[in-house]
Amino acid sequence: MTGDVTIGCHQCENCLRGLYNLCLSKTEVGLCRGKDGAFAEYLTMPARHAYRIPDELSFEEAACVEPAATVVKAINKARFEPGAVCAILGDGPIGLLALQAADACGAGMLILTGTIDERLDMGRQLGADVTVNVRSQDLRRIVDELTGGVGVDFVMEASGSIDAVRQAVDIARMGGTVSVVGLYEHNVPELDLGNIVVRDLNLITSVASPTPSSRRSG
Ligand SMILES: [Zn+2]
Repeated sequence: MTGDVTIGCHQCENCLRGLYNLCLSKTEVGLCRGKDGAFAEYLTMPARHAYRIPDELSFEEAACVEPAATVVKAINKARFEPGAVCAILGDGPIGLLALQAADACGAGMLILTGTIDERLDMGRQLGADVTVNVRSQDLRRIVDELTGGVGVDFVMEASGSIDAVRQAVDIARMGGTVSVVGLYEHNVPELDLGNIVVRDLNLITSVASPTPSSRRSG
């Protein structure tokens, strides 16, 4: 089995609309009713949030289903267009899954940023055309060189770094899309909303991914 991270109450307004990821009294696996989380050998969770996995899917692959669903939902929400020049900011699991999702959706060019060379190497194996270690390389300069100063069509901020949020806005082309899926410990100070407006950016956020009831199997 695999399962949701977000456990909805299925009684509130958002749950009744199918948006249990936005449940007004949601809890999460590991927090739900004080039970064990998914690092325990066994755990209990509501059946409606558990999903049978097909025999051909390994446990390792099944463990990636929920985060993969999260990035696919974010890309769909952002109305990703094939051929888009993309930048994925963040070389963690979400960033590497977003990279593969954007590739599968027909990205024209894929740029991956991060801070860990081994993960960036993995990103190249997974489809990144260009990788940028933001600790030692100038992302804006590289994007300008690659795009003739225009900027990228689609940028997903998946690192949770406040600096990366500013970078995401900075490297998007006018009229481009900035999708924010990172989770932030602190508020992002001094994000220039005026600059976002006059450059006609599509600023879109996304959190988790509710599974339509028609697709549940568990
Ligand atoms: Zn609810």
